[in-house]
Amino acid sequence: MSGISREERIGLNEAVFRDVNERIQDVAAGFDVRSEPLDLICECGDAKCVKRIILTREAYEQIRSDAHLFARCSGTCRAECRGGRREPPGL
Ligand SMILES: [Zn+2]
Repeated sequence: MSGISREERIGLNEAVFRDVNERIQDVAAGFDVRSEPLDLICECGDAKCVKRIILTREAYEQIRSDAHLFARCSGTCRAECRGGRREPPGL
């Protein structure tokens, strides 16, 4: 509809889900559950993909420390989401 490209739209979706996951992580931090795994939403960039993924906080922080890593579902994401990007560890 608007003039944004598919790549921009994918980037936007990733940013939205990343933001959601950061809030989940913030809430978890507020409850001091550092040893509990985080229940996150796939950040593959597909607006229709709302798969939940479980990551340890350690794995999540590792992903967050690298701007090119996203917490994504494994295997089922679209090829263009995975292309040229490294898979986060532990998925
Ligand atoms: Zn996905």
